[in-house]
Order: sequence, then structure tokens, then C-alpha cells
Amino acid sequence: MSEIKEISRERSNELYAKAKTFFPGGVNSPVRAFKSVYGTPLFIKKGDGAYLWDADDNQFIDFCCSWGPLILGHNHPAVREKVIEVMQNGMSFGAPTALENELAELILSNNPFIEKIRFTSSGTEAVMSAIRLARGYTGRNKILKFEGCYHGHTDALLVKAGSGLVTFGETSSAGVPKSFAEETIVIALDDREALTKAFTDFKDQIAAVIIEPVPANNGLLLQHKEFLQFLRDECTANGTLLIFDEVISGFRVSFTGAAGHYQIQPDIITYGKIIGGGLPVGAYGASAQIMSNISPEGPVYQAGTLSGNPVAMAAGIAQLSQLLKPGFYEELAQKTTSFVNDIVAFASERGYPVHLTQIGSIFWFAFDTKDITRKAEDIDPKSMDKFKQMHFELLNRGVYFGPSGYEVGFVSAAHTTEILDQAKQAIFDSLDVVFNPTQPSPGGRALESQNDFRE
Ligand SMILES: *Cc1c(COP(=O)(O)O)cnc(C)c1O
Repeated sequence: MSEIKEISRERSNELYAKAKTFFPGGVNSPVRAFKSVYGTPLFIKKGDGAYLWDADDNQFIDFCCSWGPLILGHNHPAVREKVIEVMQNGMSFGAPTALENELAELILSNNPFIEKIRFTSSGTEAVMSAIRLARGYTGRNKILKFEGCYHGHTDALLVKAGSGLVTFGETSSAGVPKSFAEETIVIALDDREALTKAFTDFKDQIAAVIIEPVPANNGLLLQHKEFLQFLRDECTANGTLLIFDEVISGFRVSFTGAAGHYQIQPDIITYGKIIGGGLPVGAYGASAQIMSNISPEGPVYQAGTLSGNPVAMAAGIAQLSQLLKPGFYEELAQKTTSFVNDIVAFASERGYPVHLTQIGSIFWFAFDTKDITRKAEDIDPKSMDKFKQMHFELLNRGVYFGPSGYEVGFVSAAHTTEILDQAKQAIFDSLDVVFNPTQPSPGGRALESQNDFRE
């Protein structure tokens, strides 16, 4: 049995009470507020390798990894040292630096899917700019997205499907004008019929189709390669640009992301998360011809006071350099596969209805009856209750998952086989409790399993 000790939250609770006097909901990004799991947020004071420590000195094996960026684990020495070195010369100049060239060269010379790149300060910004570029390039207004894909919090993409095969988006946030949402068409993933109908209904109006080629923000809804290829072909046939939003999958499923994994050439790719080594960086890239439309070369405006910030570039350079070492991705994927397979074997031996999906070092627990989930609508919100219980049990056994069952887990290079074995035992014991409750589940607010709590 893994060690069970109800964690102390005294200091975190004090900090949270104080934070609520400063920030809406006490946080600077909503999922952090622990609304979908038991208890209140843990305030973190330190991370090292695969571990996190909270303000009460509880130690956890971390599978959230800052929601994806930390593919080398926390506080990797190569990243830390490069950042400190660069910081000695100042933090920001608002003028070009050699570091931007260095990070761009590292990416472009190892990625045949883009020829030019522009750095931004977040994934949201990268996506927003990619959409503007697609509209500027095609002279069309509408965009098409898939239900269950998250693309950051830009207005045009805070939309969800209405009822029907092909629908205009309905805003999923207050403050987004209905007229904006009407420029966004929303269809289900893995649905060729809907895609064909959308291109017929909105002939010559769709500037871009945007998709997470590895949808990993609403469960892990792995798509068939054939569907992604169909999408590519339909976009080409209709003069529509295909945007791969690789803010999660970029540098994660391979150095060249999902484009490389599936060998499909999109027109524009967006990056974030891993690209900044834990500092705020996003990017979008495309062919030189498409990118020539961006200002100051072309008419599509896009800018940023801190874009290409030297300290952030330094972190990116240090992290991406490690990822290029031979065998890096193979080893990480192998470790994750064996971790996931052992959990699957354990669950199936005991007859627990839990499925795990995995690609590379990303995994997701589906507490669902379905074998494989490819569409957002196939996730039963009620199944989130099981995740909520597991999350509570895991915290008490020293394992930290992102506080929502819709979020995926990440394995980093710092997660050794030994650490993964320890985490596995904690997961086994937690599943035993979840599926054999001997006592009522811990007190907490009613499950709010809407998938609109987003980091
Ligand atoms: C995280 C994420 C974003 C948003 O990036 P931020 O840096 O949080 O603005 C956009 N798209 C995808 C696919 C993401 O995973």
C-alpha cells in the first residue's frame, strides 16, 4: 500500500483566503481554483524534477507539469542555468536579439512543416494571430472549429456547438458578442459528413479550419489519421487554410509535433507551452509565402512589447536543445506506455470501468463505459465524479494531477521508472477506494463538471 496521510492544507488555505481578496475566485486562471475536485487549491512553493512541494510542505509526484510546458520536469538545470546567464544582461530591450535567431533556427532547421515563424507571449496570442493571418490571406471571414478542442481564450474561439450537425457557434463566455460567434462554425470531431456539409453550406466563406490534431484539452480525443488527412484534402479543395493548433502537441508527441507524427502538412501551425521551457512563449509558423503577409512585410498586423523576450527565448533554447538528443522521445514514450499499460492491466484484472488513452507522454483517464472516445459529446459528465474521488485519494498519497477530469496528464523526462512505479501504486490504491467505497466520499461541493473551467 502507498502511504496515506490526509494532507495538511493549513497554509494553502490561508493563502487562498488572502488570494480571494485580490483575484476573482482567488486565482489568475480558472481551473486552478479546484472547482471540479474536492478541497481548495494547493499553493505551490517549489518544483524539482518530477516533484512539487506545496506551502504546507506536502510533496507530490507531479503529472500536471504546469499543464504541459515542463517536458524535462521542474527546474531543469540546463534551463535554469541558461536563464540565469541571459538575465545577467538585462530582461528586455524591445529590440531584436541574437537569441530570437537562435531559437528560430533551432526550430526551423528541425521542422520541415514551417519555413518562417513569429514569436508571441502565449498560446492564445499565437492562435489569435494565426486566425487573423488566415483571414487576411484568404480574404474570407468564417472559421470552423471542432467541439471539444480548446484554442485559448480569444473571442472567436470561445464558442460551442449549438444543436445540429453544422452550427454557428454559441458563445461559451459572457462578453463575446453574438455577431463574433456567428463567424465561427462548430462541428463534432471525427465527423466527415458534418465537415462536408459545412463546406457546402458555407462555400467560399471559410478562411480556416482550426483543430488540435491531438485534442488534449477535453479528455484526450485521439483522431484517426484518416480523418485528419480528409480534413487536409477538404481544406485544399475549398481554398481554406488548415491550422494545426499544436500548443500542447508541439514538441510533445515529437519534435515536429502532430504534423510530424501523422505526416500531414497544415498551412499554419501554432505553438506554446513546451516552446518556452516554462516561460511565457507562443509562436505561429507557416510557409514563407503565407508568413509574408504579416506586418511589417505584409498587411496583417501583429505585434508584442515582450514578443521574443530574451529570457523566455533562453529557456526555450535550453529546453528544445535537450529534446533534440537522439532517443529522447522514444524513451519518454516507452516509459509512459509501460506506466499506462500496467494501470490498464490492473483495472481490467479488477474489472474497474476505467480506460486510459495515451499518445507519447500524454495520457488520460476515461471513467467511462466507452472503449475509445473520439468526440466531446461521448464524454459522460457524470463520469467526472470518479475522477474527482481519485484526485482526492491521490493527493493524500503524494500524487498531483491537474484538478479536472477533462485535463490530461503529462510524463516528463524527470519521471524515472522508480518514480512512476511509486505513482502507479498510489493510483492502484486510489482506484481500489474509488471503486470499492467503504465510506462516503469526502465532503465537498457538488460536482461542477462543466468543461468550461479552463486553464
Ligand atoms: C494551452 C492551449 C492554448 C492556450 O495557450 P495559453 O498559453 O494558455 O494562452 C491554446 N491551444 C491549445 C491547444 C492549448 O493546449
